[in-house]
Amino acid sequence: MAVFDYAPAPESRDLANLKPSYRPFINGEFVDGSGEPLKTINPATEEVLAEVGTASLSDVDTAVKAARRAYEKVWGPMPGAERAKYLFRIARLIQERSRELAVLESLDNGKPIKESRDSDLPIAAAHFFYHAGWADKLDYAGFGPDPKPLGVAGQIIPWNFPLLMLAWKIAPALATGNTVVLKPAETTPLTALVFAEICQQAGLPPGVVNILPGAGDVGQLLVRHLDIDKIAFTGSTEVGKLIQREVAGTSKRLTLELGGKAANIVFDDAPLDQAVEGVVNGIFFNQGHVCCAGSRLLVQESIVDEVMDKLRYRVSTMRIGDPLDKNTDIGAINSATQLTKIRELVEAGEAEGAHRWTSSCPVPERGFFFAPTVFSDVHQSMRIAREEIFGPVLSVLTFRTPSEAVTKANNTPYGLSAGIWSEKGSRILSVANKLRAGVVWANTFNRFDPAAPFGGYQESGFGREGGRIGLEGYLSV
Ligand code: NAP
Ligand code: MG
Repeated sequence: MAVFDYAPAPESRDLANLKPSYRPFINGEFVDGSGEPLKTINPATEEVLAEVGTASLSDVDTAVKAARRAYEKVWGPMPGAERAKYLFRIARLIQERSRELAVLESLDNGKPIKESRDSDLPIAAAHFFYHAGWADKLDYAGFGPDPKPLGVAGQIIPWNFPLLMLAWKIAPALATGNTVVLKPAETTPLTALVFAEICQQAGLPPGVVNILPGAGDVGQLLVRHLDIDKIAFTGSTEVGKLIQREVAGTSKRLTLELGGKAANIVFDDAPLDQAVEGVVNGIFFNQGHVCCAGSRLLVQESIVDEVMDKLRYRVSTMRIGDPLDKNTDIGAINSATQLTKIRELVEAGEAEGAHRWTSSCPVPERGFFFAPTVFSDVHQSMRIAREEIFGPVLSVLTFRTPSEAVTKANNTPYGLSAGIWSEKGSRILSVANKLRAGVVWANTFNRFDPAAPFGGYQESGFGREGGRIGLEGYLSV
């Protein structure tokens, strides 16, 4: 079958309203941070997008003081029904400005516009709507009467879903009556600073939300600050462990959302075309920069050749390139550092004897890109089967029996997510019960809903985000 050519269909970059410079947001105002300014780049072109002011120790302290004041004087005492109105306003403003935010996110992060537009933005707004609904119902959330907020939350997020991770952190914190100081990732600070404008537009009282751009050291200052009650972190297991050490022995509460190496298990009775779509979505969505990505495909041995043929054909039709083009399936890798990490692990896979197949799709010359790659003949001991690659690279292993599938799926220090493809409901339920993963999808993958709790086991961290149980991370119960 011939592959159609697609004419370019770029979304306009002007929609992003890009400004030459952005500044930290403290106590309801944009201020000159006293840290060293950083330049954020477009990973698809390597051009500088904007200069961004960063926070220093004194800015962190000012922001925490503002958050403390806002918590004690305004936000903590405010009735839940009043807090809800602000959250609803924020949700609606995110929707109103969603085209602008989607384009800005794709520019700063490199993700395809169809994903920022159809996934990141709607789910970010949904998180504010969902949590707005809880703000006046906390007495009935099953934590006993009158559960209390914790106070000031320090929140640190990664670069893979910049605005969405912000929403996952800020919406539940505000709904439960906490105030926040949030540090976006160094390479993707822009949508968080437009979110700060939205807080102003919504008339949010000063100090309730503070945004401090900067590198890891700003995160560390937050973690160490003595007047913070709770640290919520999403990022790598390595940094999560450092943070857990720092927080040990203090009264700070901690939730960690860390890495993953999810198994996507395809049984011989699965509807194969749908399964292949789900496998492709599971690993190539967001360039594979997804903590819950289905990065280990476990296929029943009797169907492996058929699955591999379908998979290679499907992946060969994927288009890689300009993130702003609406036809693009795979955008840019977020940074040169991440690209180096992906290349190193792919080389390790080849050196350890796995069979590499990489799509021959055209790849742009400038910018950070990596063509979608599938490894077969992968053994459990190989680095590509054990370590998180966080890129568009799939490792395929086989199994013969359901119990072998479960054993292999659980043979990982992580435990964030998993997928099962089978026509038999009984098999799905029995396998799902044995998988040690926070989320198990059946005959689908990467489904997110603010009502569904998300979080991990083991080295994928602890605590849940979303759903009723996600409120608990911000309440004293
Ligand atoms: P990372 O290096 O751990 O960074 C995460 C955040 O922590 C960034 O804002 C980073 O700042 C900051 N940071 C770095 N060092 C710090 C320190 N010593 N103290 C406090 N904060 C510090 O992770 P990443 O490479 O950006 O993100 C990818 C990882 O996140 C992957 O492992 C992925 O699986 C995980 N992730 C997990 C989830 C989940 O929900 N479980 C969701 C998304 C991503 P800089 O930006 O300046 O480095
Ligand atoms: Mg950037």
